[in-house]
Amino acid sequence: MYGYKCEYCDGTVNERIVAREAFKHKTGFVILEEVPIGICNGCGNRYYTAELLHKVEEVASGRSLPDRSELVPVAHV
Ligand SMILES: [Zn+2]
Repeated sequence: MYGYKCEYCDGTVNERIVAREAFKHKTGFVILEEVPIGICNGCGNRYYTAELLHKVEEVASGRSLPDRSELVPVAHV
């Protein structure tokens, strides 16, 4: 599902399974674990499939229940 040319450089986007990846959505973040994402071998830009973004949206909206929730530290600077 990856393996295409990067939008930002001449690199190639390769699939990598990462232990965890934080996805930003309208009202916060969803963390997916053991997730296959695409990473450019040139600039390191990260790519996600529509399927992953759909999953993030499902969890964010409450239509799909997360396996667990974690507290995220927040600080002002
Ligand atoms: Zn790139």
